[in-house]
Amino acid sequence: MAENPLQSHEDAQREFALTLSGFSATDKPEYEDYSRCVHCGLCSNNCPTYRLWGREADSPRGRIRQMALVDQGRLEIGETFVTHIDRCLNCRNCESVCPSGVEYGKILELTRAQIEQKYKRPFPSRVLRDFVYRRLLPHPRRIAGAARLLRFYQRSGLASFARATGILRLMGLQDREQLMPKIDSDFFFTELGKTFPARGQQRARVAFFAGCVAQVTFSELNRATIRVLQANGCEVVVPPQQLCCGALAAHAGVRDVARNLARANCQAFNVDEFDAIITNASGCGSTLKEYTHLFEANGADRESAGKFSAKVRDISEFLADLGLVAPLRPLPMRVTYQDSCHLVHGQKIREAPRKLIRAIPSVELVEMALSDLCCGSAGVYNVTEPKAALDLLTDKMANAKRTNAQAILTANPGCILQLRAGAAIHNTGQEVLHVVELLDRALAKF
Ligand code: SF4
Ligand code: SF4
Repeated sequence: MAENPLQSHEDAQREFALTLSGFSATDKPEYEDYSRCVHCGLCSNNCPTYRLWGREADSPRGRIRQMALVDQGRLEIGETFVTHIDRCLNCRNCESVCPSGVEYGKILELTRAQIEQKYKRPFPSRVLRDFVYRRLLPHPRRIAGAARLLRFYQRSGLASFARATGILRLMGLQDREQLMPKIDSDFFFTELGKTFPARGQQRARVAFFAGCVAQVTFSELNRATIRVLQANGCEVVVPPQQLCCGALAAHAGVRDVARNLARANCQAFNVDEFDAIITNASGCGSTLKEYTHLFEANGADRESAGKFSAKVRDISEFLADLGLVAPLRPLPMRVTYQDSCHLVHGQKIREAPRKLIRAIPSVELVEMALSDLCCGSAGVYNVTEPKAALDLLTDKMANAKRTNAQAILTANPGCILQLRAGAAIHNTGQEVLHVVELLDRALAKF
């Protein structure tokens, strides 16, 4: 067969780019990842950072162009490039509208891996990243220890003192403090290793993925998720050895840590024993479903990651498919729904949460404008880019308020934190809940 000159050109370019970088193919975008972008710009208006600043360099098309230039050795991995890549929310809204099927989330993570390996960030940033991604998130005991310290700060009066004296403003921490999660009284770690029986006839046996920070900030959401599953005929097992899903590390380009966490979770869940692995955090779910992206093709890790990912289901996706059988009492209230980016754009799940909301008698669902535009939470974005996160939140809260809904529902703990902060800052008086929390509230007592 005659050689395809275009194909060999692409292969040569890819080989050249890989040689330049010195990385393994797993940690580097491939030439065709960029070349799928035809620069049509259809994604720009759906990009929150482009809408905020109107700059091409902060649009999906602009970022992809910069990535390709870096790949070709025509742009250095310097401060300007890193800034534009850091400012991306990884919301993947651009992916949803792209007619060429550009897998933006995948190439962004690989680009961030290149930055992690090749770019020397300022010393404080390096120390903080090392602490968060390598020394804190993979270690449940350290998360619990840090949470206890934070809880002491929040409840001892220190937080009020810091706010009243202006110390936080002086240290430039005022915005970040507003977005800080409230630490639970009772951590979810105590539930690890337990099995919760199905109520009534058993319809499924599932494993519950509990998250990392969620175990100290969203323990009640996790318990509500288990109650709703039980009420709908599911036996729920909480595997004791599970760790952080690795999403935050993968998004930040710290792929060795993400890989180790993925391996640990694949071992912790005996996937053959379960009908599904359930998560109530769409950010985690998106990464758990894409564990194969972390590993070389054809390796043993990739195979076990594939088996694991095939069982992962978001709670709304799972319940909508299974069908609700638990009796639900009427909840006369008007609600609106904020699509979590990693559910709607990462996992392409738009209808399932709405279907569950509509299943609750007397609940009126009112759509808000731009419900699938990021609220500014985006993992740790509200900590690393607090000004942009708060600007996005301002627009989000204005749209939510216009619905006159009493509650804003969503599908991810990070979004809940951000929207709760928004409701407080903008004084909208709206309650913010996970969809599963509303279902739990509607459950007739059993
Ligand atoms: S919509 Fe897709 S093809 Fe068009 S510019 Fe955006 S990423 Fe590129
Ligand atoms: S992931 Fe979100 S913020 Fe980043 S380029 Fe795409 S739409 Fe814009």
